[in-house]
Amino acid sequence: MRNAKDNFERITSLLKVSSNQIHVYLYPDLTAYHQAAGWPDMQDWMVGHIADGAIHIVSPTNPGPMHDFDSILKVAVHEFVHIAAEILNPTMDRPFIVEGLAMYLAGQNENVDLAARYMLSASSIPDVATILGHDWGIGIYEVGYAFIEFIVAEFGMTSWCNFMQTLMFSRFLVCDATNSMKCG
Ligand SMILES: [Zn+2]
Repeated sequence: MRNAKDNFERITSLLKVSSNQIHVYLYPDLTAYHQAAGWPDMQDWMVGHIADGAIHIVSPTNPGPMHDFDSILKVAVHEFVHIAAEILNPTMDRPFIVEGLAMYLAGQNENVDLAARYMLSASSIPDVATILGHDWGIGIYEVGYAFIEFIVAEFGMTSWCNFMQTLMFSRFLVCDATNSMKCG
């Protein structure tokens, strides 16, 4: 995959995870992927997941109606972040932060503004206790992304690293202010 090696090195370096090569199972289309995953009725936006340390994903050349070539590549990075995070902390249980981290490092910000506007109008933005809590909730992907983006923008990378270390990854991110985090 294009940029796969660059992203592998970027994520392993940023998260300070050492990992051998990771198996990626590429499926020719959505139907094949959903059936192989055991979710034949899954919605079309679901195009990738991890299982037993491997990435399972739809081919970017046949991404279905909800994705395109580039967004599938971002999903691959997203799933790889999950694998790296699991290595750091196999029992982590803060889903907003876990999904936000994967979204942020994969640069998946396409729907964040739209989701924020909707949630503002519906008065349904979760509070910080929910975001830091142990349950899934509405808008988890976009809210998780926005929360991490806010921490980085407002307090800087070093503070964000310290925050993540304290929150859930004791070995996480021995990084410094010069470690710019380019997404995507
Ligand atoms: Zn995820």
